[in-house]
Amino acid sequence: MSLDQAWRSELVGVGFIALLLIPLGLGTGYLIPILWAGLTLYLGWHLYQLYRFTRWISKPKSHPRPHPFGIWRPLMLRVDELSGRGQKRKRKLSRMLSGFLESTGALPDATVVLNDEGRLDWWNSVAADFLGLDRKRHKGALIDDLISDPVFLSYLHAGHYSRPLQMPAPVNANISLEVRIVPYGKGKRLLQARDITRLHQLEIVRRDFVANVSHEIRTPLTVVHGYVESMLESSETFLGPWKRILGQMQVQTLRMQRIVEDLLLLSRLETRRSSEGEGVVGVNALLRGIVDGARQLSGDKQHRITLDADERLRLVGNGHELESAFANLVYNAVRYTPAGGDIRIRWWLSGGGPCFSVTDSGIGIAPEHIPRLTERFYRVDVGRSRESGGTGLGLAIVKHVLSRHDGTLRVESEPGKGSVFTCRFPHARVAS
Ligand code: ADP
Repeated sequence: MSLDQAWRSELVGVGFIALLLIPLGLGTGYLIPILWAGLTLYLGWHLYQLYRFTRWISKPKSHPRPHPFGIWRPLMLRVDELSGRGQKRKRKLSRMLSGFLESTGALPDATVVLNDEGRLDWWNSVAADFLGLDRKRHKGALIDDLISDPVFLSYLHAGHYSRPLQMPAPVNANISLEVRIVPYGKGKRLLQARDITRLHQLEIVRRDFVANVSHEIRTPLTVVHGYVESMLESSETFLGPWKRILGQMQVQTLRMQRIVEDLLLLSRLETRRSSEGEGVVGVNALLRGIVDGARQLSGDKQHRITLDADERLRLVGNGHELESAFANLVYNAVRYTPAGGDIRIRWWLSGGGPCFSVTDSGIGIAPEHIPRLTERFYRVDVGRSRESGGTGLGLAIVKHVLSRHDGTLRVESEPGKGSVFTCRFPHARVAS
């Protein structure tokens, strides 16, 4: 019976009882007391059913299920139906959840769910292996207490998760991990760690290979270059037709020497710890030296080179590295600006932190090249780069130096009008 029908029969029942009681009351002369008694009985019965119902629904396991009649029967059936549906949904959800947990458990990467306080909610078996987690001891533990690597902690608390972090596994320093944190929901975070030991080893092999080759080539190259120079110093009659060839050999060996030096510098930047050799750098004095070098490089081209630097603004960093980065940018401006052009060098404290910029009125760079400029050996015009003594490694060096100083490089350029290369450092790098 539906609830609507039950309502109707309840009303019919009440009417039927009233029809019985009214003549009885009229016949006995006690109409009001009899109706009153009937109403009290009816209400009392309903209150009793309500009591049994609420008792059962609040603790269904401790109280028997009521089996009433009247309107209560379809009501109970409806409750049974709804609770059956709820159970079914619950079973479906728990099936889905266990399926999800099984699949994440089978993931080859370590996965840890952190709650809004940074405590461990859940993790898969790979995470247990890499991070040394135990289901009983570490459930609800703070991730800070489990992974004490300072680099990881500063990455975790900085909140900038766009780039992954590379670190040794807490359980075994020979395993290299690439850790990524993905924020989701309300303050929750998903920590993923991938084993990149093999990749890391390959990267070391590549780095060592380039460094070793450069190192091995350096000495023979210096010898060849030295001989060529000595020969060129000999008398004109002795050299005869060889003078032109030796001149070319001198240019090419010099170029090779520059490439070798830049490759060695890059490999040093890759292998040394970033804090090595750091101190307070007087950028103003350093820039004056670079400007002198730039004027010499400009020579007959007569560029108008201006320096506008805040004398009191000093930076915490590695002086040699910063000098080579800034010099690369300034010398590039000289090399890629036609004779008589303007080159403006600035060093100042902006709202966002200390900034160094080089603005030139040179040939400029088309927008499609800009994202690739800091790649090794990437040149917009190979011929022009070689002609002007470029190695194709200058901006790669700049990028490395800046990343070791927590800085960023911004390139704005328009072909035919000129370029602005801006290096921005964080406030924390200002030397007080
Ligand atoms: P290179 O030794 O070839 O100059 P870099 O890494 O220093 O190598 O620069 C990469 C390329 O970026 C250069 O080959 C050149 O095409 C372009 N470039 C760099 N600086 C400038 C500039 N100030 N104006 C125009 N092009 C530039």
